[in-house]
Amino acid sequence: MRLKDKVAIVTGASSGIGRSIALRFAEEGAKVTVADIQEEPREGGKPTHEKIKEEGGEAMFMEADVSSKNSVQDIFYRTAEKYGRIDVVVNNAGIFIQDKIENLEEEEWDRIMDIDLKGVYFCTKEAIEHMTTEGIEGSIINISSIAGLVGYNGATAYCAAKGGVSNLTKEVALDYGSEGINVNAICPGVIKTKMTEEFREDDQVRSFMEQNTPYKRLGKPEDIANAAVFLASDESNFVHGQNLVVDGGWTIH
Ligand code: NAP
Repeated sequence: MRLKDKVAIVTGASSGIGRSIALRFAEEGAKVTVADIQEEPREGGKPTHEKIKEEGGEAMFMEADVSSKNSVQDIFYRTAEKYGRIDVVVNNAGIFIQDKIENLEEEEWDRIMDIDLKGVYFCTKEAIEHMTTEGIEGSIINISSIAGLVGYNGATAYCAAKGGVSNLTKEVALDYGSEGINVNAICPGVIKTKMTEEFREDDQVRSFMEQNTPYKRLGKPEDIANAAVFLASDESNFVHGQNLVVDGGWTIH
């Protein structure tokens, strides 16, 4: 029970990585707000909050769009109202669009920036306001990507947005460390979720990915969830402003 008595918001938690984080947090004793644009998991199965409750945990679902300021404010207001406080915020909701700059339309650029970067800004702002007002020494965990640290072929807008998330993490950590607010990012490699299904189905691409990963496998959502539990727990209090790469070694060469 490494997160006993903590209250967490996980965005994009109906599916994939966010779902796995919400489930692990609940296993470790946290009460979880599952905030997502849709309730049904992209990969199928029971909605995350129902699965948590079925296993004896505490959770609620909130339909929310992280690219909308009002929607984000509502997540924080309703979570604080129901659970009394907010200790951990995981900014996980995101989309992936693969397009080289020559094909990238302005609408696509704006959409990815609105969800992957502006969404993190809205949620972080609310988290900081809540934690500083209530005197909570909480944790903010941003799900960036290896594409926020190195180039990733044909993903111009995604790399730009995730690069923003990775550096926003360092800057916010600099400003609020003295208040005891712990801020870090996780940079996953290629993880088996619906987001990556299309290119994982291409044998050539999948085998290229696997062969170039020193660990010789792609990531699982649980690999990221375990890192998130560590960053949300008191064990990581002196780990601050970091981009924790969880990629089986992809970025070391
Ligand atoms: P996923 O399986 O597609 O899950 C993302 C969830 O976020 C979906 O339920 C999605 O709903 C929701 N979402 C999308 N836009 C939203 C919005 N505006 N507001 C609230 N929720 C929204 O993706 P994933 O692979 O778990 O990715 C999670 C995070 O990890 C993302 O930030 C992604 O960039 C990052 N990441 C993933 C990988 C990877 O290999 N999978 C690698 C590095 C980083 P809809 O289905 O309706 O869109």
